Formats: sequence, C-alpha cells, structure tokens
Amino acid sequence: MKYALVTGGSRGIGRAVSMQLAEMGYCVLINYQSNQAEALETLRLVREKGSDGELMPFDVTNREEVDSVLNKWMEAHPGEYIEVLINNAGIRKDNLMLWMGGDEWNRVIDISLNGFYNVTQPLLKNMLVKKFGRIVNMVSLSGLKGMPGQVNYSAAKGGMIAATKALAQETAKKNVTVNAVAPGFIRTDMTQDLDENELKKQVPAGRFGTPEEVAALVGFLVSPAAAYITGEVISINGGLYT
Ligand code: NDP
Repeated sequence: MKYALVTGGSRGIGRAVSMQLAEMGYCVLINYQSNQAEALETLRLVREKGSDGELMPFDVTNREEVDSVLNKWMEAHPGEYIEVLINNAGIRKDNLMLWMGGDEWNRVIDISLNGFYNVTQPLLKNMLVKKFGRIVNMVSLSGLKGMPGQVNYSAAKGGMIAATKALAQETAKKNVTVNAVAPGFIRTDMTQDLDENELKKQVPAGRFGTPEEVAALVGFLVSPAAAYITGEVISINGGLYT
C-alpha cells in the first residue's frame, strides 16, 4: 500500500486532492482540525474511488500533537512510510495592516508556514531513506503577487514558496520533489464570503476555478511523469496573474 497525507483534507481543495490521490491508488490519510463530519465524508468519497484511507486529526500548528499522531501511525505500520505529503491546511483572516491584530497575523502564518514545517520535517527522513517522495505545498496567488488586505496571508504563502524552492534543492538527489501550487479564486468554503459575480469579471477565464481542477494539477505533480519538476510554483488561476 502507498500512503499519502493531505493536511486540511476534510473540505474544499483538500477533499478534491484526497479523491484524486485515491483514484491514483493511494491510501489517503485525511488530516483536519475539528470538522470530523466533513472528514468522514471525504473518507467515504475516497472509498467510493475504490481506495482506502483513514482520518488523521491534528492541529498542524501543534508540533507535539503532530509528532504523537505520526509516531503512532509509524508504530502501527512498520516498514511502511508516507511517500506523498500535501501541505494544504490554511486559513484567511483578512484585514488591512493598519488594523491587523497579533492574532490575525500569527494564526495565519502559524497554520500555513509553521504547519508546513511541523508536518514536513518529521516525514522527510523516510522519504530520503526510501529515495522517493512527493511534497506539494498549497500556496496562493497572494503569495506571488501580494494582495492588499492580506499582508498576513501573502507573507505566509510567500514564505512557503521560498521554503519550497530551498527544500527542493536539499532533496532532489534522493528523488524527493517539492513543488508549490498557487491557485487564484477557487470555489470553496474559504471564498464563500467573496462576491463571485463581481470578482469573476477580473478573471480572464471569466469564472472561479473548481477544487477538482486544482486536484488534477496536484495529481500530475505527484505522478511519475513529473519526476523532473521540482522547486516550481505552478499557478492555476484562469489567467488572473501570470
Ligand atoms: P477550506 O476553508 O475549504 O478548508 C480548509 C481546510 O484546512 C479544512 O480541511 C480545515 O479543517 C483545515 N485546517 C484549517 N486549520 C487547520 C489546522 N490548524 N490544522 C489542520 N487543518 C486545518 O479551504 P480551501 O480548500 O479553500 O483551501 C485549501 C488551501 O488552498 C489553503 O491553504 C488555502 O490557503 C489555499 N488556497 C485557496 C484558495 C481558494 O480560492 N479557495 C486560493 C488560493 C489558495 P477543518 O475542516 O477541521 O476546519
């Protein structure tokens, strides 16, 4: 059995990625923070694709909790390892810098950037020892271009982009690729509060993207066909920003 871990796999893009990986034959470890009902629905959809999975709840910002859950998994699966990691968990807490509180700044950076460290660091060793691994980091157009009202989110995603490029160079010799996917507007819970009818006018493709379109790109980056792609940031935004 080949194993893939998707952080924030309970909803939105993480759910679609879980289904994509299930279709590719992976047993999917579905991480989430608190929404067990949605995570169970993802597990049901993974099984519908003919593969299997399990729920793996932890808060990506809590290194002790991450270590304890991953160590338990490793003890229960001797000789096996998680070869695919999708660092997808993320939140928005938009505000103009002038009014941005410490909690809005810290929480957004904690989940995306520190979450990347907390989950990737303990899984990396096995990928290097087994000489195969795939890491995909879910970033954002905001981390490439910078978005007003999202200084915290742009900083978190920009940090992940730089980390992607650096780590890719550390691991390439061991066939561990590290890439980032940078979506524009994708229709999920995260964008539910946005005025889609207004914002889609800014998108050359004339619409928001779907989680499934992002998942297809992640699937390609995980596949053997993408073995020579590493340290890249691939935009998926309907032409909004190139
Ligand atoms: P959703 O809000 O739909 O889902 C967020 C997911 O992250 C949920 O599964 C949630 O778990 C999980 N999560 C949040 N905090 C934590 C935490 N501390 N520990 C573990 N899991 C956590 O988001 P999207 O699917 O829209 O976004 C997924 C990723 O894509 C994010 O990184 C986001 O920044 C990025 N992105 C999204 C875009 C969009 O337009 N939607 C555009 C660009 C980037 P739970 O269900 O338990 O709350």
